[in-house]
Amino acid sequence: MKLYRPGEKGHALCETDGRVSTTFRYRDVPFSDGSGVARRILAGVCDRCGKVVSIPPQSTPSIKAARRNAQVPIEAVLPAVYLDALDLACWRIDPDASLESRKPLLMHYLHASAQSKAAIRRLARAAREATSLFAPAPPAGDRKRLSMKVSPAMSRTVERLAEATRLSKTELIKGAIVQIAEDIVGPARPARLEELKSLAFFANC
Ligand SMILES: [Zn+2]
Repeated sequence: MKLYRPGEKGHALCETDGRVSTTFRYRDVPFSDGSGVARRILAGVCDRCGKVVSIPPQSTPSIKAARRNAQVPIEAVLPAVYLDALDLACWRIDPDASLESRKPLLMHYLHASAQSKAAIRRLARAAREATSLFAPAPPAGDRKRLSMKVSPAMSRTVERLAEATRLSKTELIKGAIVQIAEDIVGPARPARLEELKSLAFFANC
């Protein structure tokens, strides 16, 4: 692979200027979703307008690291039975699944919940009914912490859901787990199993 050096010339497409010559320089490059910045990475800069128009492969690890650092922690302390339900659903979707798949499954449900008013209502109802579904209420001691780091975009989705439903993030997570349990754990033949198996929901969260 080619290792680019600062000052070296290249070619790329610039949104403003079309096909242009570029010069590689170290620049702070904002993420496309505006959620953060990768600092001092080598980038191809348009010789006409000075905008960053290309990123060489050697800068990818730094961008990935910067993206990881931009992730937002989400924490909830839940009765342990919720996490058991979530883990059972993950296991049912993929028996080889690890605890890592908790987050994508949860985020898939929260993201889907944000897509329509009806979906938001269903989530809010599930969150409010949560205690009765998992009744009798487990002893207060049997609680577990769920810690995840999500993308800034996903974090904003959760904030919007919290605003729309006036529920806390913990309650939203409970609501999502109730839905997951209804869809995947409860039924003898879960209707959405194949869809969830084939879904590329591991990206983007
Ligand atoms: Zn340009």
